[in-house]
Amino acid sequence: MSICLRLSVVLILSFVASAQQTSAAAGESERCTVIRAGTLINGKAEPPRHNQLIVIRGNRVDSVSNANTASIPAGASVIDLSQDVVLPGLIDSHTHIFLQGENPAQGGYDVNLLKYPLSYRAARATVSARRALEQGFTTLRDVETEGAGYGDVGIKEAIDGGYIPGPRLLVATRAISTTGGYPLEGYAPELDMPKGAQIVDGPVQARKAAREQLDHGADWIKVYMTHRSWIGKNGELVSQPTLTVEELKAIVDETHGWRKKVACHAYNGIGLQRALDGGCDSIEHGLEISDAQIAQMVRQGTWYCPTLSVYYTDWGPPDTPDGKRDRKRASVHEETFRRAAAAKVKIVFGTDMGGIPWTEPIAQEFVRMVGFGMSPGDAILSATSRPAEMLDAVGEIGIVAPGAYADIIAVSGDPLRDIKILEDVRFVMKDGAVFKP
Ligand SMILES: [Zn+2]
Repeated sequence: MSICLRLSVVLILSFVASAQQTSAAAGESERCTVIRAGTLINGKAEPPRHNQLIVIRGNRVDSVSNANTASIPAGASVIDLSQDVVLPGLIDSHTHIFLQGENPAQGGYDVNLLKYPLSYRAARATVSARRALEQGFTTLRDVETEGAGYGDVGIKEAIDGGYIPGPRLLVATRAISTTGGYPLEGYAPELDMPKGAQIVDGPVQARKAAREQLDHGADWIKVYMTHRSWIGKNGELVSQPTLTVEELKAIVDETHGWRKKVACHAYNGIGLQRALDGGCDSIEHGLEISDAQIAQMVRQGTWYCPTLSVYYTDWGPPDTPDGKRDRKRASVHEETFRRAAAAKVKIVFGTDMGGIPWTEPIAQEFVRMVGFGMSPGDAILSATSRPAEMLDAVGEIGIVAPGAYADIIAVSGDPLRDIKILEDVRFVMKDGAVFKP
């Protein structure tokens, strides 16, 4: 084929493709759906509104108005949720779709990396993503694949391409820690074991790892600032710091240059302080944060993603070192959560699902948050408009308002009275399409 002919074939093909896209887009914008909402909690810090009409065109909310005065557009299909409470699709800011709540009796964490082909892990991640969507979580910030490389980028592309159902994903790919700072560990030193995160030492390697991950599709960079934890001589929780401030600063500088953000796993102590001094954007877990550190977070605008529920699973026996550590983690986490909430730290809802089996309800974390003194309204904000701000998607996700993506869920009772109702999401729409009728 001559170059000229080949070029014209390419041009014709690309014209056909773009014409198809244009007509698909036109079909999208013509599709009109109306939801009658008995009560609407819109995701903003506003009181619920009753008897609302939500008009959806294509994949976006077009209008929200009082059903008594608004009329239903001609040709619209109507979804009757007039007996239900309607909310924006929920956001979990800390998940691991490539983990499955590893059972120690079945080999625990290590078998993921040692025994399973990546295709097996990807297949299970597909199920995890579907489970999240079924439960009304229409956006996940998934904070690393635990040895499954860039698998999260592929799952995200498959969801966005419409091949598999799942939430909107913001992915962190491989995550970063240091030598001695991540499993697999405890094997003979002669063995070169695979690791669940990318290992770096020194600011040059740290920056290079961030560049690689960003280049391969990371939406966020995830860094482990602490690793092992144990009970110290005075009964205190101690955690081993990993990256230095210089190493973290290299990562943060690189990532911010790409207009992206850095999530820092940090339990307490030196590592958590380095996370704050190095300019991390969100503290993950943050089991024990001092008053001075809380003040620094407020000053710097650092997000706090506590993960309460996961620290109440799989405690060791009470009188063992592990059992004491497990109980200590849970107790300091509760106390920190209460102080951080009182100090108005920007708290987002996170679960560490994957650390918890995906068969369990994601919304159990709401019950913990409210149990530890947060109002139900504030807990809902932590999974709607507040993480939308952290994820640079204000007005697009986490609200039901004109211009937002039509990510909409419904429950059959009032979550402001009983937050546990969010464990039973009856209706899920994502991107204007009904997933759970
Ligand atoms: Zn995690």
